[in-house]
Amino acid sequence: MSNSGRPHVALLPSAGMGHLTPFCRLAALLSSRGGGDLDVSFITAEPTVSLKEYLQIRDLLSSFPSIKSHRFKVPELSPSQFPSSPDPFFQQWESIRRCAHLLPPLLASATALIIDTASASAVLPVAKQLNIPAYILFTSSASMLSLVAHFPSHVISSTSPSAPLMSNILIPGLKHPVPAAWVPPPLHVPGHIFSTLTVDNGRCLPEADGVIINTFDALEPEVLAALNGGRVAHGLPRVFAVGPLVAPPPPQQMEETGGGDYPIAWLDRQRDKSVVYVSFGSRTAMSPEQIRELAAGLERSGCSFLWVIKTKKVDRDEEETDLGALLGEGYVERVKGRGLVVNGWVEQEEILRHRAVGGFVSHCGWNSVTEAAVAGVRVLCWPRMGDQRLNAEVVRRSGVGVWMEEWSWEAEGGVVGGEEIGRRVKEMMEDEGLRDSAERVAEEARVALGVGGTSSKEMEEFISRIMMGS
Ligand code: UDP
Ligand code: UDP
Repeated sequence: MSNSGRPHVALLPSAGMGHLTPFCRLAALLSSRGGGDLDVSFITAEPTVSLKEYLQIRDLLSSFPSIKSHRFKVPELSPSQFPSSPDPFFQQWESIRRCAHLLPPLLASATALIIDTASASAVLPVAKQLNIPAYILFTSSASMLSLVAHFPSHVISSTSPSAPLMSNILIPGLKHPVPAAWVPPPLHVPGHIFSTLTVDNGRCLPEADGVIINTFDALEPEVLAALNGGRVAHGLPRVFAVGPLVAPPPPQQMEETGGGDYPIAWLDRQRDKSVVYVSFGSRTAMSPEQIRELAAGLERSGCSFLWVIKTKKVDRDEEETDLGALLGEGYVERVKGRGLVVNGWVEQEEILRHRAVGGFVSHCGWNSVTEAAVAGVRVLCWPRMGDQRLNAEVVRRSGVGVWMEEWSWEAEGGVVGGEEIGRRVKEMMEDEGLRDSAERVAEEARVALGVGGTSSKEMEEFISRIMMGS
């Protein structure tokens, strides 16, 4: 028990909105659960990489004032300390790992800890030393978790650990092999920071007291059964499928942020299910050439669209892009009325739940997938990097959407033409079978989260464990 004699769970996310968002949702859920007998604290590695991360944490703490905040100062690494990747999010993961030994004072009264996969192998030993049960919140799909859990054995069994990993991966317990082309590209490069981290963090999964994952049984039944049936990797702890994580409303009335927003007001004027929402997440910038083809494709599709353009990986300041120069003079005016182009942050969850949105062109970041699934919006998958092809396969197999498998990764440098994009978007928006199957999955998500549903039960079991300090 903590100093106050009450159970106290501390959450330590890593960097990137895709990681931070599920942590914020879980912190809000734990803090607002009935009884109020669980203390919750949130540890923020500072400075955050992007402005939006800082704002999101600030909003969480002001909406849920009972969550205690701890600031965890981590130094920015110099290029000589961290030469192998220019990705600022990977750099922050590494900074957090290197500062793990500074965590004990922030965990003085914690009776349970929830950490991100990216810092697992560095933070789990600290939790062990303090005798605090530690859980990993895995922020991607169960499919990705199965790959991460199996990957260390795969690397060992490869003929040469330094050779690029070219073959398909057969994960024990799963029927379908993972084609080499779906594996996150950095995992093909031995010595790449992402590859080294994935092996280290995958190897230490058995050290965790459990894994919480933002998915639900009906979305990934086979993989979840294999993970919890002990078939994927030896010694894995219990995996709690508690998703889709949806933040509860704040206990105190906050100022209205959604209703008056420009994209929402624009959607209010559109017909039911007529709009395709286009976004590639919080950290995927597209090349100017591909942006122009996408612009042509959306125009050709004949559909109404709401398109969020991102030209920078990290939004340290308000982004300002000359849309005229990027899209061609006159584009924005030409599509006016039926197309809205936004350059900046939008409230995606609210957009996906809007009655006017009927389709989503998505990179398949896992949060985007779960948000589409719960809203019952059809997805046209266009994975760009990382775990996104594995996630796209979940979308396709579950019936939430379709995947243009031949469309290129970001790193492959190919450009998908406007004509092809326009045709596929139109097809998706006219596909009534797909609309129905996406709505069926949304219903399954509602059942999973409802009283007696699979995700509610898993959440209750997880909470009872942390209340008992086990
Ligand atoms: N998001 C948002 N507005 C934006 C861009 C992203 O609200 O303009 C949210 C989105 O709803 C999701 C998260 O940021 O919750 C992005 O996570 P995801 O896993 O989909 O992709 P990532 O950004 O990690 O690639
Ligand atoms: N990941 C992991 N171990 C690591 C680093 C990452 O399992 O050491 C997983 C994690 O679930 C993450 C996914 O790999 O969500 C893809 O990471 P990436 O940076 O490509 O995308 P992000 O989710 O950060 O947008």
